[in-house]
Amino acid sequence: MAKVSVGLRGWRFDEDDIFTDDEELKPLDEIPEEPRERLVRLVGLVEEPCDVCYLEHGEAEIHRCNQAEIVYGEPKGEVLLCPEHEPDLLYWFREEGGSDHAGEIEFGDRFHEWVAAGGEAPEDYGSVEHVEEDPDGLPDLPDQQDVQERVEENFDGERIDIVELAGGNGDDEDRLNEADLADSDIDLSTDYPTGR
Ligand SMILES: [Zn+2]
Repeated sequence: MAKVSVGLRGWRFDEDDIFTDDEELKPLDEIPEEPRERLVRLVGLVEEPCDVCYLEHGEAEIHRCNQAEIVYGEPKGEVLLCPEHEPDLLYWFREEGGSDHAGEIEFGDRFHEWVAAGGEAPEDYGSVEHVEEDPDGLPDLPDQQDVQERVEENFDGERIDIVELAGGNGDDEDRLNEADLADSDIDLSTDYPTGR
């Protein structure tokens, strides 16, 4: 059974779970619960900034953040990354105990705390994986705009909460100003730079 990514690289879906034989998105009530939960969640994530960029630059300099292209972790406990910061997640996962949190909703919080405490991958770490994960190797996807629209028809408007994501760990990190983070309820997608 072919595995596909939709919208963001990282989360993989069994093609047969979410698409019909004609490569149309199935009605949501025909999609099994677990992939449906991730699919609906994705719609709220595709225009969000990379978490590491956001932790670095904060709301005041949101324009300096890269838009996320990669998602890891569990729905509502996920980590969003740009390609530049993906090695940080890979390093944390493999070398800094991150894998202990695989499958847990706390996965994202633990990673954000590690980043906020100054954690980062050594220079050049993970560059090999980028070659191996060449997106050209993925099967052709149905029109993603269509996927997005179909999911949004059933989307309840819930957005990722970066305040929650950042955890209460701002004490040892000046840039994690609670007041700034609290302002992040505004819709980040409206004037967010698209494309790279
Ligand atoms: Zn980034």
